[in-house]
Amino acid sequence: MPIHIETGDITQENACAIVNAANSSLMGGGGVDGAIHRAGGPEILEACKAIRQTQYPDGLPTGEAVATTAGKLPVKYVIHTVGPVWGRCGDRCEVLLANAYRNSLRTAESLECDSVVFPAISTGVYGFPKERAAKIAFETTRNFLASHPEIEVTFIFHSDRDSDIFKQAIKGL
Ligand code: ADP
Repeated sequence: MPIHIETGDITQENACAIVNAANSSLMGGGGVDGAIHRAGGPEILEACKAIRQTQYPDGLPTGEAVATTAGKLPVKYVIHTVGPVWGRCGDRCEVLLANAYRNSLRTAESLECDSVVFPAISTGVYGFPKERAAKIAFETTRNFLASHPEIEVTFIFHSDRDSDIFKQAIKGL
């Protein structure tokens, strides 16, 4: 199974696409979103603005995904997805987080990407419990890859502690 788990900075990753844990405005923000826009430069924001104007005037709904240029980043594309805000998603939190992973992978597939790097969507400011998020991320990805074995997926964490939480959470799945 081509799934890798790493610690590092997603903006330094070399792959076909990285996934951005964006907010629905697509106008940038803190955390990994801010890091991606800073490192990629203004082209990414320009592309996001165009998407807002043409496709999603009210913002990108939670669980959906769209791709843009990656600007100065070493990858070809940034896939922006919106994870659920824990505490505001009721009994749909898990489904919405799974949708964010699945729709990002579908977008990567449509771009003919064979390598995708994910951050831990929703587990920062959006407050999703890390263990639960890990299980959803892993199972959704594994299910998708079962029918798309040509795609390699990396989960990247900002700290060894977070990558250990992920590894522990998916043990035995
Ligand atoms: P969300 O709003 O979806 O919760 P955040 O950006 O607040 O998104 O956090 C998502 C995860 O991304 C957190 O686990 C955070 O530690 C991690 N993160 C922040 N910056 C980076 C980065 N440069 N590379 C990889 N992961 C990052």
